This record gives sequence, C-alpha cells and structure tokens, in this order.
Amino acid sequence: MLSFLPDYIFPRLTDLSPDFLQQRGIALLLMDFDNTMLPYTTNVPSQELLDWLERMQAGGITLCIVSNSHKKRVPAFSEAYGVACVTRAAKPGTRGIREAMERFGAKQSETALVGDQIYTDVLGAKRAGVTALIVKSIHNHTIWLKLRHLLEVPVLAMARKRRVQL
Ligand SMILES: [Mg+2]
Repeated sequence: MLSFLPDYIFPRLTDLSPDFLQQRGIALLLMDFDNTMLPYTTNVPSQELLDWLERMQAGGITLCIVSNSHKKRVPAFSEAYGVACVTRAAKPGTRGIREAMERFGAKQSETALVGDQIYTDVLGAKRAGVTALIVKSIHNHTIWLKLRHLLEVPVLAMARKRRVQL
C-alpha cells in the first residue's frame, strides 16, 4: 500500500516551484502529460503553463515529459515548446521513467515524477524509486476518469498529511 502514497500533494502543476524541488535535491522533474500539463481537450498550453515551464528551467530544473500516450500531440508539444519527452512510457511500469533518467544521467534521489493518477503515475514513480508528486487532474470529465478518481480517494485521504501548504 505504501507504494501508492504520493510523497507530496499539490493542487496544480504550476504550484510547484524550483525552490521546493531544489531544497529536496531534485534536479530532474518528469511530468505526466494528459490532465497534468494539458487537458485531453486541447493541444494549446495556457500562458500560465508556459510561464511555469520557463520558471522551472530558469531555476535549474531539467524537465522531461513521461507519458503513456501514443498520440502525436505529446511529441508535437515537446518539439513546439522545447521540452524533452518519452512517450509510450507504460507507467506504472518503470521503463519510460528509467529511460528519461538515463537520458539526463539523473539518480533516483535527484528525480521526481509529477502526475495526476495514483495507479499509474505515483505507483510508477515509487516502483522506479523516485519522489512521487501528485496534482489534481485538470479534467475529470469522463465517467471512467470519475470512477478512477473514486478509487483514489482512500489513498489520497491516507496521504493527506503530505499535502503541501502554499
Ligand atoms: Mg494523466
């Protein structure tokens, strides 16, 4: 059960700061794409997200998208906005996470993964031995995502002390 518990809970991706990560020795931030960075419904990032990406990079954090997606929108985003990506990552498997870490030569202790799903993102991060951060899904609009969220409620309740106060 412990491997389902995120280390830190944030309301939104853009609430994460370079300082927060650096204070914990994190230099590489792996990011889930769908519903963490962008909703399924658009390929166009908000200005807020773009500003945040810039802030993280200026703060010395290396960013890499690690997505289970096989759709073109992830590499298209990666190219357009200059953020590295690994797709078809098969989280909660660790292959994609390990691939991204190898690409940047980052150790487990220097790596965090942020995502919106307990059973893919958090579990994958914990299995790979990296820090697990969870944010609230941007969109929770399909019945399947709503049901999945219901399954996450007890885990999030258990981890409630790990909510980061902003
Ligand atoms: Mg997601």
